[in-house]
Formats: sequence, C-alpha cells, structure tokens
Amino acid sequence: MSDPQVLSAPVPPGGTIGILGGGQLARMLALAAARLGLKTHVFSDVRDAPAFQVTSAHTYASYRNAEALRKFAQAVDVVTFEFENVPAESIDTLSLLKPVRPNARSLAITQERFDEKSFVSSLGIATAAFAAVNSAGEARAAFGKIGSNRAVLKTRRLGYDGKGQAMVSSPEQAVAAFEKFKKAPCILEAFVNFDFEASVIAVRGGGGTFAAYDPPENEHGDHILRRSIVPSRLSAPRVEEAKEIARKIGDALDYVGTFCVELFVTPDGLLVNEIAPRVHNSGHWTIDACAASQFENHIRAVAGWPLASTERHSNAVMENLIGEDVRDWQSVLKRGGCLHLYGKSEIRDGRKMGHITWLGPRAVRRNGPKSPTS
Ligand code: AMP
Repeated sequence: MSDPQVLSAPVPPGGTIGILGGGQLARMLALAAARLGLKTHVFSDVRDAPAFQVTSAHTYASYRNAEALRKFAQAVDVVTFEFENVPAESIDTLSLLKPVRPNARSLAITQERFDEKSFVSSLGIATAAFAAVNSAGEARAAFGKIGSNRAVLKTRRLGYDGKGQAMVSSPEQAVAAFEKFKKAPCILEAFVNFDFEASVIAVRGGGGTFAAYDPPENEHGDHILRRSIVPSRLSAPRVEEAKEIARKIGDALDYVGTFCVELFVTPDGLLVNEIAPRVHNSGHWTIDACAASQFENHIRAVAGWPLASTERHSNAVMENLIGEDVRDWQSVLKRGGCLHLYGKSEIRDGRKMGHITWLGPRAVRRNGPKSPTS
C-alpha cells in the first residue's frame, strides 16, 4: 500500500484542504484557500465555530470521535490544523488515511514545552535557561539550577496566552506554583529581561523551499498579543539571524506549512521562547502588507504548490480587537484601517474578536521581489 503521508501530486484547484479547528485562524486559512480555487472542510468541536461561516463543508464533532475523523479524512485531499493542542490520537487516526501537514512530529515536539526547548537547544539555538519540574523536590532544585533569582514556572502542556504560567522568585514560590498547577509536569525557565519581543513567521514547502516574512515586533498586555509592528527595531543582521533560526528549525522538523518562532530580543542576542506549528496572530498583517499572506503560503505549502513571495510592500501595525474593543469598528473604518472581523457573535473579556492593520508607505524596491529559495 502507498504511504498516505506522501502527496503524489499537488492538490489541484477544486481540491479540498481539511482543517482541524474552526477559529479565526481556520477562517482566514479558508478565505485564502478560496482565493486559490481550493475548497476547505473545517472540523471543530464548537457548534458555531467562526470558520464554519466561510467554508464549503464542515464537521461539528469531538476531536476524539474516530468515526467522524475518518469520514472527514475521506472527504479531503490533505489535512492541516489551526491549533497545536490537537490530540495526538486524532492525528494518528487521520495519518492512516491522508497526508497530515505539518507532520505529527512537529506537532508532538511543539505541544510539550520541555521537549520543545530541548529540541531548540539541540540545534545550537539559544533559549532561556530551563529545567524540568516533575515534583516539589525538582521545583526547589530547578530554581537553583537555572542560575536566576527570577523565574517562570510553566505547565509543559496546554499553555497559551499566559495560561498555566506563574512568576516565582524563590524555591518556596516555585513549589507553591507547582502545587497550584496540581503537580502537572512543568518547566522552570529563567526570567528574561528582554528589550522587546519579536517573531519570525516562516513557511517551508514540501521540497525544502523556505521563505520568511520580516519579523514583527510584538507587544503583549495581560499575556495576550495586542500589537505587531513591522519593521521592528531589529537590526538588519539580527533580522537575517532570526530568519536563519526559523530555517534551521523548519529543516530539522522537515516541516511543511507556515510556522512562527517567538523570540526574546536581549542585549546579548536572540533567544527562542516558543514555536507555534501554525499560522500565528503576529503574522496577520501579512494579509494587507504583503504580496501573499501567511495564510496563502500555508495553503500553498500543504497543497504542494510553490511558495509565494513573502516580500512586504508596506509598513504595518496590526492591532487586535479584544473583547469590547470590537464595538469601535465604525471608527476604524472612518480612520482607514484594514478591518478584519471574525464573525464571533458573543463578546467576552479577552476574546479575540478581530484585528485592524494600519498600513504606511514603504520605499518600493527597483529590482522586484525576492522569490523563495530552496
Ligand atoms: P508563552 O506562553 O511562553 O509564549 O509566554 C507568554 C508571554 O509571557 C511571553 O510572550 C512573554 O511576554 C512572557 N514570558 C514567557 N516566558 C518568559 C520568560 N522566561 N521571561 C520573561 N517573560 C516571559
């Protein structure tokens, strides 16, 4: 029998991309796919998932419903996902039937903070000092091991937007935080006194082609991304270094699709905070400021198409509309921002309801855009 993970030919226009997850990322992926003449089938366990409004087919079922997953796989040409916490067994079920892109290994490594940091370090890429914490004794010992008197305890799995994180400044506090997380496996990281945060949004095609967008500078509030700004304050050599870090990670994972590497920018250099194996909030500005967005490039990569240029034609500031911010949509339109609303009917505190991209001119290059390199 042929290997279901090998895509023997590019998915042709009219073919179907299966997407696990139905939030705003899936919604923007589906819109990008539609522009390329591709259909999408979105699978979500949320009844009124925002992506259902813009996809040609959808399945509303649990990610652990093997029968629903099998039917979904039969209806699509290739499977991808919009979030990293997809259960491993769902991917196992789907992998027997259709190519899953990015691959299961990329997902497994990035789902687990300790494995992720160990993997990044094994490539010779710098991270904050870290140590595993699986017991109260290890919490105490780890605090001494990482050589810092301020640290962050994080659960190894299922953390996002600062959930499952606690700042600690003594071994006793590390133990108390570990107990607060119900003794779930954790990682203790040295607190990084960074100048600012940045990220690289990169895309890797099946044959190892690679392209990266200019890294945005990211501002957070309450652990949620508020604003991404391009160009960032990174110097030109640091921009190249950031892109090389992403290339190294993509190659080592044999990754296919768009991914994000979150960075801390310190006076001593770049540190990798985490890898998101998916399109990312800090790359939303690429829809309005680039020839091809992170979403289009993800769809191209998973469908086995050539990658598009990641060249940026404008400067951009992307602002998230969080919770009540969305009520301001008319003033955004009046002020000329590019408005993106996610079709969520219920406003909740901390919920990402949409985003705005403000564009500014950028000097036009005379010799045309750069194409992706292999
Ligand atoms: P994370 O969930 O790991 O992406 O962390 C969310 C945010 O918490 C990051 O974007 C940082 O602003 C902050 N943070 C996480 N880890 C550290 C660290 N080791 N030192 C300083 N700030 C951190």
